[in-house]
Amino acid sequence: ATPTAVMVATGKGASQGVLIKGGNALEKAHKVKLVVFDKTGTLTVGKPTVVSAVLFSISSMEEFCNIAIAAESNSEHPIAKAVVEHAKKLYPKHGSQTEYVTEVDDFVVHPGAGVGVKVGDKKVLVGNRRLMQACNVPFGPEVEDYISDNEHLARTCVLVAIDGRVAGAFAVTDPVKPEAARVVSFLHSMGISSIMVTGDNWATATAIAKEVGIQKLFAETDPLGKADKIKELQMKGMTVAMVGDGINDSPALVAADVGLAIGAGTDVAIEAADIVLIKSNLEDVITAIDLSKKTIARIR
Ligand code: ADP
Ligand code: MG
Repeated sequence: ATPTAVMVATGKGASQGVLIKGGNALEKAHKVKLVVFDKTGTLTVGKPTVVSAVLFSISSMEEFCNIAIAAESNSEHPIAKAVVEHAKKLYPKHGSQTEYVTEVDDFVVHPGAGVGVKVGDKKVLVGNRRLMQACNVPFGPEVEDYISDNEHLARTCVLVAIDGRVAGAFAVTDPVKPEAARVVSFLHSMGISSIMVTGDNWATATAIAKEVGIQKLFAETDPLGKADKIKELQMKGMTVAMVGDGINDSPALVAADVGLAIGAGTDVAIEAADIVLIKSNLEDVITAIDLSKKTIARIR
């Protein structure tokens, strides 16, 4: 495209909340045959909330919540925020007792899995099944059933292990964006297919994919794994777009022919992308492709 055509399209995009960072993305977007969507915060609203809490090997819900607050207050993950909010709501502090314990030792992040921390003399792990397996925390059928029941309802389970035993768990839900299914089906009508990639587990991911009408998905994928998936698809000769919001999506956003970041997403994702969807509305994936198509048609 000529510099003028790019400028016109960029201006038009900006007025519609689609920030196009350069001519390259604009020239490639019309060729996109496949859109890869991240799940959390991209297809879903990204505001998870706790819908249930259960105890397995600890007797006091208050103690359990206090330990969860101590561990998750240190994490930036939206799931961590949901856990903290829920636990604090269950046990509000009053009067002279206004402080929760949030000072901890040895805080570590396990990307795509959870966190580890020492709360007082207790070794605490908060995260998914994979985290427990990686840290050799065993669990029986009671925990297994809770996980699978919730995952089939498209919920994510947050397991809390204290000193090597799963003490209890939270189930978290994150609703699908209202426009998600419509966008996937419209892309399909344009001859563009959709795939989902996520760090979340297979069962939850499958339930969400079904809700939005995506047939192909890759779950339990770490950030570099997401980028590798994009490269694999490109090697089949396809022009691939990636839509994501998180730090964990940035390698994939860079690898894609066209990286689109959700405006409400993290700065790292916005920086890694070629196009920013300011309104965080998935309809604008179509706006961006349309804009590219019109620009290319005009100059040919
Ligand atoms: P996504 O690709 O869906 O955006 P992430 O890669 O950020 O997901 O995380 C993958 C999974 O790791 C989450 O679904 C959750 O099960 C677990 N997880 C990561 N961080 C935390 C945390 N701080 N607390 C609880 N669970 C976590
Ligand atoms: Mg995400």
